[in-house]
Amino acid sequence: MAMDSPILNFSINPIGTVHSCFKEKFAIPRQPSLALAARGEIELFSPYDDPLAIAGLEEVSHLWLSFIFHQAMPKDGEVRLRVRPPRLGGNKKIGVFASRATHRPNPLGLSVVKLDGIKNGRLQISGIDLLDGTPIVDIKPYVPYADALPTASNAIANESPELILIEFTPDALCSAIDQGKRLGQPVKELVEQMLAQDPKPAYQNPDPKRIYGVKIWDLEVKWLYPQQGLITVISISKSG
Ligand code: SAH
Repeated sequence: MAMDSPILNFSINPIGTVHSCFKEKFAIPRQPSLALAARGEIELFSPYDDPLAIAGLEEVSHLWLSFIFHQAMPKDGEVRLRVRPPRLGGNKKIGVFASRATHRPNPLGLSVVKLDGIKNGRLQISGIDLLDGTPIVDIKPYVPYADALPTASNAIANESPELILIEFTPDALCSAIDQGKRLGQPVKELVEQMLAQDPKPAYQNPDPKRIYGVKIWDLEVKWLYPQQGLITVISISKSG
């Protein structure tokens, strides 16, 4: 039973937002550090858009970000005790608190990301698993001696997921390189690392003719599954 407590209805206000390479949820890696070429930046809101608030961060390589799953907000009165993590093929349920699923009692996410630098007051980050526009509620420095636990285990997700093979058609490869130059971003690496995670649901048997697509930066990436375990990237073009 809920007890009377002054913090029961505590409200949380975003201190910033993420500008991310990922423009839609589909195909975002399921954890940070799986796609190191996934980049973005954090724009801080007033009054935290002040050098005083980030003084000392130049000494830090990685950050913990607390954020809001703003595109997975719980519906009023909705209670989900169990979820189907993609990791288990999408057909086995585990407790919500045993999973990193986005649909949670409070839509709060936690990701550790690399801090590549600070430019015009914005924190440049990589290895992200965050959607564009994600509200950031707190930033903390990663503390290796306390946060890296060599004896930790999780039998549900002990190793990073198996990767699948990615190939590009010659045209798609040229576009990846050209668009990467135009944007000043590692587009080819991002596409490879993102798709190697196999974004399609594990239970879905791909029809080799079906074309999948997703938006990254201002680009539309299209691919298909010519056979099990292989992705062919067929085009990368500016999205309309
Ligand atoms: N590392 C985080 C996120 C795990 S789930 C944590 O453990 O809390 C990762 C998935 O969250 C991604 O695949 C992406 O599809 C989804 N996601 C990222 N940002 C989101 C947002 N703002 N709203 C809803 N879903 C988001």
